[in-house]
Amino acid sequence: MATARYWQILLDLPLAGSLDYMAPEGSSNEPTGLRCVVPLGRRKVVGIVTGVSSQTALSADRVKAVARVLDEVAPLSSHWLALTRFAADYYQHVWGEVALPALPPALRQLPGPRFEQVIARLRAPLPAGRSADAVRRPVLSVEQSAVVQQVAGATGFAPFLLFGVTGSGKTEVYLAAIERALAARPGAQALLLVPEINLTPQLESQVRARFPDHSVVALHSGLAAGERAAAWLAAHEGRARVVIGTRLAVFASLPGLAIVVVDEEHDPSYKAGEGVRYSARDLAVKRAQMLGVPVLLGSATPSLESWSQARAGRYRLLTLTQRAALDDRVAPSIELVDPGRERTDSGIAPPIQRALSECLERGEQSLVFLNRRGYAPVVACEACGWMSSCPNCAAYAVFHKPDRTLRCHHCGWSAGVPRSCPTCGNAALQGVGRGTQRIEESLQQLFPTARVLRIDRDATRRRDSAARAFDAVHRGEVDVLVGTQMVTKGHDFRNIALVVVLNADSQLASQDFRASERLFATLVQVIGRAGRSGRPSRALVQTRFPAHPLFSALTRQDYAAFADALLAERRRASMPPESHQALLTAEARHLDDALGFLRQAVDLAAAPSEVRVYDPVPMALARRAGVERAQLLIEASHRAPLHAFLRPWLAELRALKARPRWQIEVDPAEI
Ligand code: ADP
Ligand code: ZN
Ligand code: ZN
Repeated sequence: MATARYWQILLDLPLAGSLDYMAPEGSSNEPTGLRCVVPLGRRKVVGIVTGVSSQTALSADRVKAVARVLDEVAPLSSHWLALTRFAADYYQHVWGEVALPALPPALRQLPGPRFEQVIARLRAPLPAGRSADAVRRPVLSVEQSAVVQQVAGATGFAPFLLFGVTGSGKTEVYLAAIERALAARPGAQALLLVPEINLTPQLESQVRARFPDHSVVALHSGLAAGERAAAWLAAHEGRARVVIGTRLAVFASLPGLAIVVVDEEHDPSYKAGEGVRYSARDLAVKRAQMLGVPVLLGSATPSLESWSQARAGRYRLLTLTQRAALDDRVAPSIELVDPGRERTDSGIAPPIQRALSECLERGEQSLVFLNRRGYAPVVACEACGWMSSCPNCAAYAVFHKPDRTLRCHHCGWSAGVPRSCPTCGNAALQGVGRGTQRIEESLQQLFPTARVLRIDRDATRRRDSAARAFDAVHRGEVDVLVGTQMVTKGHDFRNIALVVVLNADSQLASQDFRASERLFATLVQVIGRAGRSGRPSRALVQTRFPAHPLFSALTRQDYAAFADALLAERRRASMPPESHQALLTAEARHLDDALGFLRQAVDLAAAPSEVRVYDPVPMALARRAGVERAQLLIEASHRAPLHAFLRPWLAELRALKARPRWQIEVDPAEI
């Protein structure tokens, strides 16, 4: 066997591949996956060994030696290396900039003086589940058992799309499938991805209680550095058998991974919004494929991407049509309320006011949903037409009443509300439109004795305040809950008999082609918060467009038909998932520079006929935090030609001398 004189080492640098270093004396010939410390210029950095060789292209005086092997921790597996490499290739980044950031900071930073002790401390025994915590598991319904059987019976790579109405007990299905997978072989591990862990602490404790004999760890960005490193290490060393985590957990090292579950697979938060714009859902499927294990994607409103895979027979479609718990069998009735021309001071149509009042009289809770925080989205002067705007963004500044400020929701800018119009001096400035604060105020005026509580990001800035607010709802100390998206996710409210949706129409008007898909998902999710009390419940959606097909599908509670119709529309227009896209964005001080760079990119593009390169345009939010932004859309009917085109083209762009900041996003979530 050839001696491994050189180790190829992957670093967190914009380099195409690994760098060669001299292997340490008497070292292992199989170092792949080990982390080590190497010199880089005058610095030392941590890298990962990706291979060995007996030769190097570097001249003898330039090749440096590995400074230290960090073998306190077992090497990363070849699967893990292959996964991060795939992600880098697919999302058009370099491998090192995907792989190293996927490690917890404690394992990619230079080790301190007492590294061994640090690692030993991280290995402190996990808080073991206590059998006393074990919950009584419900007897699975016939539908649930059938689904679990299918998943448990699968061999090799088996992608499933679990399409289950809200309340159909998808969580029980996940847990039962995980349980079967863990029992099937010693050392088996499960990965359960969820959109946002902080908003659903119930789920984490439910999972822990369900597996009292196994260690369950959580992985998300809200953890302290030590906690995150300990959880990561427990997964890497097989001590943790279940990992529940947000999108970053898709890169967890799991040597025994036997099943992957993605809850609320349609949720946009699976797509990274910065850095490498990966989709954790898509990588979860890829990972399962690489390992030959089942992957279960669950949702009440599957993404059209997954829906089309199921329709094409590539994913097996599993359905749950009924609510699981006996006492919440009755799904809420959904009615549309057209406010018509009748103007109300509150912005809440009279039939909705009546429903709220009846609900209060019966002592039941109601939930008023409105996806807009603040008091009014803009402050305006009727005399001269002045409108409050952010000085740094191409956006309005939102009026926040509690501290009488104007705030920009894009860059965080804020200032006091002017007493009079800055242009004409008119003292009668008006808040235009309604946000959660204003609706909260109106509700309190309409129902003075009701206990109204608002939950949105502004009301829950302090640590634990969100958890306390939700507890108050669960304890029945709230009559009317007003909230944004924050209240829709996964909360198992037991006593909500009425759900009201106020500004659905604003999302109908969005220019993003995914807007109606997203709106439907949001509406189903928020409406699903009702009807868990055993009594009849209602959902009232205020809209000026009751004839819109989205609303008729909603009232029929027929997502399948809606998704099929959308898919047919996308096919006709040749839009995703019926085509594949990439988005090149550029940022500069002046819009012309950003657009100019993109025009240059168009000129350089030697696109084959299967790949369409559109014209550069300013982004929907053309200026953010003082930076002008423009975008260029690239589209192809098939993935392969798109990727084949992107790689050399982006390499050319990287080589350009004068260029603004730019980014590439493959499968962009928003356009
Ligand atoms: P989903 O995630 O599909 O919206 P959940 O998993 O939250 O639904 O389940 C809804 C409710 O039904 C929960 O309170 C859950 O405990 C209960 N549940 C689930 N399965 C069963 C079952 N087989 N029998 C009784 N209750 C169940
Ligand atoms: Zn004015
Ligand atoms: Zn701003």
